[in-house]
Amino acid sequence: MKNLQINKIKLTLFEIELEDVTEDKGGIGIKYSPNTINRHKRFAIQIYDNKGHIGEYVPPRGRAKVIIAASEALSHYLIGVNPLDRNGIYRKLRGLCKHIGEVGIGAIDIALWDLAGKKHNSPIYELLGGKRKILPAYASTMNGDNEKNGLSSAEAYADFAQHCLELGYKGYKMHGWSTGNVKDEIEMLKAVGDRVAGKMKIMYDAACHLNTLSDALEVGRVCDEYGFYWYEDPYKDGGVSINGNQVLAQKLSTPILVGEHVRNLETSVDMLVNGSSFFSRADPDYDGGITGSYKLVLASEGLGIDCEIHSCGPPMRHLMAASRNSNFYEVNLLHPKCNNPWSLPIYDQNYNDLINCIDNSGNVVVPNGPGLGVDYDWDYIKKNKLHTVEIF
Ligand SMILES: [Mg+2]
Repeated sequence: MKNLQINKIKLTLFEIELEDVTEDKGGIGIKYSPNTINRHKRFAIQIYDNKGHIGEYVPPRGRAKVIIAASEALSHYLIGVNPLDRNGIYRKLRGLCKHIGEVGIGAIDIALWDLAGKKHNSPIYELLGGKRKILPAYASTMNGDNEKNGLSSAEAYADFAQHCLELGYKGYKMHGWSTGNVKDEIEMLKAVGDRVAGKMKIMYDAACHLNTLSDALEVGRVCDEYGFYWYEDPYKDGGVSINGNQVLAQKLSTPILVGEHVRNLETSVDMLVNGSSFFSRADPDYDGGITGSYKLVLASEGLGIDCEIHSCGPPMRHLMAASRNSNFYEVNLLHPKCNNPWSLPIYDQNYNDLINCIDNSGNVVVPNGPGLGVDYDWDYIKKNKLHTVEIF
């Protein structure tokens, strides 16, 4: 009998339509744009084996043009390979793309986990040895804007925090404005702190927009004043300086969270060992899939450190469900006036990552079907496809 082998990989670039959120021409940045209807690019990957199993994944987020190209190139190296050898494939693909930031591995690895789950008739979190069925979630805002009724003032951020609290969220994270204006950011942090501190966890993600380490320190002292749960990617080191974040961590009481822009396990662990970050950060789409991300979860556990999973989607839920040392699920890029750009019209009715995806206690559930546990609407994807590539 022939061994299990990958015999085809299919990649489909398609468009979805979203109201009031635009995607820039490169498909990397998004912003709130009231009274507009816009096309955004996404892609799907399907991995077929010679025994009839199909692993499927649609990354919820943007950046599709960049990632589909990398995933396509890497797919050529997988024909004839055993799809269950996820660790071997992870190492092989890391070697192949070591010069280019390891982009493209995530989608392939996640589709392989979906295939394995379907083969074993088990959800991914059970394959990982996990059993958490519900996950505490936090509301994570879109970047600030200048639109009337948008996230255009400190009060607007505070009003939205209040709204999220009333919906049941136990945590609220602000992505501020992208200008690096210390005064504006501090005003916003104080407005939110005055409104909801003590009622929900508050996190702040400067997303590396503050210009200097001194600016980061000044803003961080306000996080300290209000007892923030974490202070994420404070300044323009890109979230990668071991020394800079170590210095900041020594001067502030608020836990620092960096690592979101570090694309390999070894450097992420170096940051933890050197005290640059209180938490580790794992994202299945970017950090070598579930395989690479789970290695970071376990490495962090071995160091006695918590790993916070970045952004939202089915693989993030499965990963967190198997992680003892993870606190909150990020319902990402929420806005008071529009849906977040992960509101894909491609899931079955049992799954979404919209603002109302939580229960009254602020939790999301983990999909329970085989693999990722979600069914994709392939008719929709085919109807809106731009092109398909098949690799044999
Ligand atoms: Mg972030």
